[in-house]
Amino acid sequence: MALFVEIYDTTLRDGTQGEGVTFSVADKLRIAERLDAFGVHYIEGGWPGSNPRDIEFFAHAKHRTFQRARLAAFGSTRRKDTPVERDDQVRLLIEAGTPVVTIFGKTWLLHVREVLQTTPEENLAMIEDTVRFLKQHGKFVVYDAEHAFDGCKDDPNYARATWEAAARGGADIVTLCDTNGGSLPEDVFAITKDARTRLTVGLGIHTHDDIGLGVANALAALDAGATHVQGTLNGYGERTGNCNLTSVMPILQFKRKVASVPAESLVHLKELSQFLDETANLRPNPRLPWVGAAAFSHKGGTHVNAVQKVIHSYEHVDPSVVGNTRHVLISDLAGRSNIVMKARELGFQVSNDTPQLRDILTKVKALEHEGFEFEAADGSLALVIRRVLHGVPPPFVVEGYHVSMRRSGDDSVCEATVKVRVDGQFAHTVADGDGPVNALDGALRAALVGFYPQVADVRLTDYKVRIIDATSATAARTRVLIETSDGTHEWGTVGVNENIVEASLQALANSFEYAIVRPSILRHA
Ligand SMILES: [Zn+2]
Repeated sequence: MALFVEIYDTTLRDGTQGEGVTFSVADKLRIAERLDAFGVHYIEGGWPGSNPRDIEFFAHAKHRTFQRARLAAFGSTRRKDTPVERDDQVRLLIEAGTPVVTIFGKTWLLHVREVLQTTPEENLAMIEDTVRFLKQHGKFVVYDAEHAFDGCKDDPNYARATWEAAARGGADIVTLCDTNGGSLPEDVFAITKDARTRLTVGLGIHTHDDIGLGVANALAALDAGATHVQGTLNGYGERTGNCNLTSVMPILQFKRKVASVPAESLVHLKELSQFLDETANLRPNPRLPWVGAAAFSHKGGTHVNAVQKVIHSYEHVDPSVVGNTRHVLISDLAGRSNIVMKARELGFQVSNDTPQLRDILTKVKALEHEGFEFEAADGSLALVIRRVLHGVPPPFVVEGYHVSMRRSGDDSVCEATVKVRVDGQFAHTVADGDGPVNALDGALRAALVGFYPQVADVRLTDYKVRIIDATSATAARTRVLIETSDGTHEWGTVGVNENIVEASLQALANSFEYAIVRPSILRHA
């Protein structure tokens, strides 16, 4: 196995093929930022040739600086019988402005003949031309060999010829893809080994989990000489999903002892995994290896001390190395260090000895018990910490509000009034909107802008609703998650209530409050 393995994340492209996974442009930018902070080596942002949302993503991403990761645009080889410079889809790849471009091409003759309906020779030319063209435009090129394993089993000579065409064109990495996800580790190993002896370029692996072997197949390819793994966080992806990077990364670090993402990032793995689920508005899978809520939960410990003595004999690693906790023994200490870590990230100056830490932790746990979730609501978490830590009052108080709706014919209009108090002064404003949240947003903004002009730049970018504890005897509560941007920063806020309008107002008020107090939090630091 190589001494260093590159992680290529395709959550934002292949991951969005999964059932129930859709991301707005703002979501994608936030996810990309988190992936970069975590330290993956490549972030595949999307396929500009397949939808306008991805073109918009790349237009925004151009203005961001990524510290560690290189951004990749994904697409396909040129169309058959078309000069590459006249292919619109290829042109969009160049216009995406990314340092890396990944294109896929056909390995399997069945697909060349039946799907592309072209000749084996033209397919080879399509691969070589497209790679060369992208290289001429200064791109680092990853060539994804679709159906590499199925194609190679069908006709090894032709499969090899396609990879060699990519290498001749100048590809930096040739990635063998188990597109249908049905290959076995022994076949992946043998075919990757064969490719390794024939090619001098970098070798990558892209697998799917159709028979539960996505991660195992990626490891088999690494054993055979690949040095680049493609996959998604939480194994998001079409059908049963892609190779799960949330498993691959800790396996490399803790089981194989191979360098990959920065070692210090791994303690943030669970946080990253939860952030993704929250952003996708999906319920986290408790049985996810390494990071799932149940991954280190132990049942049947009658005496805590006894369990504590034998606990590591029932665990393959200490859960804290990936930021997870054991279920029966959520120690105060583990909670503490999580909060310290998070608070520092948000700009607060705290340590394990900060006296208010216990109160912050108690408050956060109480709110979580009520249904608040802070993984994707760092703005709200910052406000909770600020109140306890600095003991300062909020910059404004919503004294009251009123929302009404009326419909005439096909038009429905919402009207909201909001009464806000700042120090001893009041503002009472009204706004219309196409829905209650929109109307409240307008009224609250109008009330605050006289006191805090900076709220004028604050823009709500996403709004998500989830019903929580719908099965309990009490009334179901609604959790509202709002994402906000001021053009340079994005943050999330959360509200929870039986009433969706009330929950929305909480999240909205939080998002404005965070915009107002954020500079003072950073000044304190
Ligand atoms: Zn795939």
